[in-house]
Amino acid sequence: ETARQPKPAWIRVKAPTSAGYRATRDTIREHRLVTVCEEAGCPNVGECWSQGHATMMIMGEICTRGCTFCNVATGRPDNLDTFEPGRVADAVARLGLNHVVVTSVDRDDLADGGAGHFAQTIRAIRHRAPGTTIEVLTPDFLRCGPEALETVVAARPDVFNHNLETVPGLYPEVRPGARYFHSLRLLQRVKELDPQIFTKSGIMVGLGEDRQSVLQVMDDMRSASVDFLTIGQYLQPTSRHHAVVRFIHPDEFGAFERAAWGKGFLMVSATPLTRSSYHAGNDFQRLREA
Ligand code: SF4
Ligand code: SF4
Repeated sequence: ETARQPKPAWIRVKAPTSAGYRATRDTIREHRLVTVCEEAGCPNVGECWSQGHATMMIMGEICTRGCTFCNVATGRPDNLDTFEPGRVADAVARLGLNHVVVTSVDRDDLADGGAGHFAQTIRAIRHRAPGTTIEVLTPDFLRCGPEALETVVAARPDVFNHNLETVPGLYPEVRPGARYFHSLRLLQRVKELDPQIFTKSGIMVGLGEDRQSVLQVMDDMRSASVDFLTIGQYLQPTSRHHAVVRFIHPDEFGAFERAAWGKGFLMVSATPLTRSSYHAGNDFQRLREA
């Protein structure tokens, strides 16, 4: 057991108060949407929501997995809401987003893992908000056939994100139920199916991994042709979750970032408050303009 550590100064964030924050919150409430920003208690919510950036979570608030870092409830999920893709698309149009991130809980209870619902959501957003670029952050579809992934890819998201979350050695305690090489192969397969789609993945640090393993994960990602990388500090949602083993100093994040650029990623974000979806839109726009 690691004692709970006080947060260092570089982790503290401002309370969300701006008018832009409230406008985003109201639209999300009105459309009865679930966001990762709230479910995960994300420290960037004030900044992101004031800029009209949010990460939508589809297919309910109950997950069939129980990752030890994650605050989402584990259990038997509700039936899929067939109107949800439309509601998400309406909210995206109303919020006038340049870029939207759509993610979900794991749905091991569904034969296709929710792939069809993902594809419908992508298509609904394309239809109602054609100017918005779409990033999906998907489950691993571990118990599905290859068609599940093909269904999502065929809907042509701009960015396909699937997080490896941690180094392979920590999978049994951090991400039970998932398989490191399955997730890596999933990312590689996206690129094989449609090289036009940017692929993205990320890990959290501070869970007890060593530096060498982090560099190895970067190499693994590059050998699977992953384009974008995110690395952020793991924060413990409650005392029942995996302990923070270490707060990584911003200088160490800087070293990870430099190493990652050197390995050939097209986009890298590695800071204590980096989240999978942090500044995703801004970075992606910049890349498209370059
Ligand atoms: Fe939401 Fe992602 Fe921003 Fe956090 S970083 S508030 S999850 S959009
Ligand atoms: Fe949380 Fe995703 Fe793991 Fe489910 S699969 S417990 S939503 S991290």
